[in-house]
Amino acid sequence: MEALLALDSHPSLWALDMEREDRYEDGAQKQDEREREQAHRTRKRLGKEEADRRAAAAADLHTGPTPDDPSALELQECLVCGYEAFSSDGGDELGMQVGTGECLVCHYRRSPAIAAMQPHARQTTCASAIPPMRWIAPCWRAGKS
Ligand SMILES: [Zn+2]
Repeated sequence: MEALLALDSHPSLWALDMEREDRYEDGAQKQDEREREQAHRTRKRLGKEEADRRAAAAADLHTGPTPDDPSALELQECLVCGYEAFSSDGGDELGMQVGTGECLVCHYRRSPAIAAMQPHARQTTCASAIPPMRWIAPCWRAGKS
């Protein structure tokens, strides 16, 4: 057991871990790009009137924090369509106000991997303004351990 622990903390294995994380992040990011493109097309197809209608209905469909589930998130602004209609499935596990879930207007889905990578993304309204993953990855790594 001691030997395994010593091996596990060997610096050359950190590089492997980081390589694995980089690949995981790249895959998650590519998937997210496809999600965004799809959601963008959906939003365009809907037109403004239908998007407005869905955004108004979102407040009734989403369950925010309750006494039984105080960590649930309120509706958030969707990074793809800009409507206050992003409905998080679960609680705010990372305490960053970024949840996994789906936009009730454009159907953009944010995966757990992307939610973990985007602790600061909520501040921005434009999807393309999100900094490259490498800038924010250290925060994610720090939060994971
Ligand atoms: Zn949306």
